[in-house]
Amino acid sequence: MEAIQPTDLLIIGSGLSGMSAALFAANRKINAVVAGGAGGFEYSSGLLDLWGASLTQKNRITKRPWAMLEKLSGQEPLHPLARITGETIRQAFSELTAALKQQGLTYSGYEKKNTLVMTPFGTLRPTFRLTPSMGSNAKAVRAQEPCLILDFKGLREFSAVFVKEMMKQTWKGLRAETLEFPDTRLRREVFTPFLAGSLETEQVQDKFLALIRSAVKDEPWLGLPAVLGIRSSEKILGRLEAETGLKIFEIPTSPVSVPGIRLKEALMRALENTSVTLFQNRRVTEVVPLKEGGFHCRIGSDLAPVTLRAGAVLLSTGRFLSRGLYADRNKIHESLMGLPVYQPENRDQWHRLNYFDPDGHSISRAGIETDDFLRPVGPDKRPVSETLFASGTLLARQDWMRTRCGSGLSVATGLKAIESYLQIRPGAC
Ligand SMILES: Cc1cc2nc3c(=O)[nH]c(=O)nc-3n(C[C@H](O)[C@H](O)[C@H](O)COP(=O)(O)OP(=O)(O)OC[C@H]3O[C@@H](n4cnc5c(N)ncnc54)[C@H](O)[C@@H]3O)c2cc1C
Repeated sequence: MEAIQPTDLLIIGSGLSGMSAALFAANRKINAVVAGGAGGFEYSSGLLDLWGASLTQKNRITKRPWAMLEKLSGQEPLHPLARITGETIRQAFSELTAALKQQGLTYSGYEKKNTLVMTPFGTLRPTFRLTPSMGSNAKAVRAQEPCLILDFKGLREFSAVFVKEMMKQTWKGLRAETLEFPDTRLRREVFTPFLAGSLETEQVQDKFLALIRSAVKDEPWLGLPAVLGIRSSEKILGRLEAETGLKIFEIPTSPVSVPGIRLKEALMRALENTSVTLFQNRRVTEVVPLKEGGFHCRIGSDLAPVTLRAGAVLLSTGRFLSRGLYADRNKIHESLMGLPVYQPENRDQWHRLNYFDPDGHSISRAGIETDDFLRPVGPDKRPVSETLFASGTLLARQDWMRTRCGSGLSVATGLKAIESYLQIRPGAC
């Protein structure tokens, strides 16, 4: 008979919210299990946004995330980020970035301001915390000195010429060139994770150095799609800069995103040898509340399914893309436990006619409503279970894409859920 494993906390979902909650649990020595698929990491730019949209001028970006969050509690008091203190949000970013730094992925940024970063579309977008190669991106944009932007034969998701054309009105000294990435002559198509992986070896770095030297004329700056390694990205950047004398920066690419993979892998490494066990790429198929408290849970697998008895559960299962929510023709549902979903009354109200409507679409605000401890609530606004919590983009009354708060929402609610668990868990005083 299959043994039932006990755990104090099961975190369902290994996107940014589940993984950062797992890290916060590990920092507090909580005995926890986290299970889930890749999540949004491979889609994300790897930039950690806190809040990037103006609340006063629609369609405008903002460089003042904290000022906007202060306004949010007046304008949208039920927004998940309006219900979390600034102190908790700061603590969440500080714990996350400290752990990532230990894994060789340094995130920094201004204390109060967003930084503007160049995108693959030749636009500027605000972000809160960014890695050195993206920090140099922002510096290059500000300096507007002569700069070569490179792309590579067979790479479809990034075009140096496109970036140059989009930015040339304001940035006169831009030049674009397409080169053949080392050892890819026989490939019709190349992908950024493959290029980044191959740059991890010194031999490819040597060839890449020769390539750069042959391409740069008198430009002090070199911009590249984000391909500078996965695990050793900072070392690779350092070596290329030291040996060429250039200031080198990365530009985020469309998915699949190397910086997102770096972030995911650094978080996975940070959980090694901690109180948290990770079941990567495994879905939870069953969560049944038990009369005596806690949950009977099953992590699915054809070969080795795992049955758990969890004292508490944190749902960080994301939205439609990650299958935390699904919609039939009439209604939006929570996929795993059938929890009540906050949503428009009928389907006609899901979307506005104009896709780019500055007010966004109501479906983007659908999700799980919670109490102040981030416990999902029923129609009577009471928690459906004492020890069930929810975090991340699954939560209701936020539109992270429009307001550019994806990481901030995921990380801050991840910490809030762990703090709530510690306050409420069975046996807590
Ligand atoms: C295209 C795109 C671009 C983005 N760009 C940025 C950006 O530039 N900056 C930024 O700050 N944020 C960005 N984000 C958002 C950021 O990645 C989000 O904060 C994050 O994806 C949300 O995290 P999450 O953990 O709530 O959900 P997800 O990342 O969606 O993760 C949900 C997790 O739940 C798992 N899951 C679902 N059901 C189950 C189940 N039954 N059992 C086990 N696991 C389950 C999924 O496999 C997945 O691991 C982007 C996201 C996307 C999609």
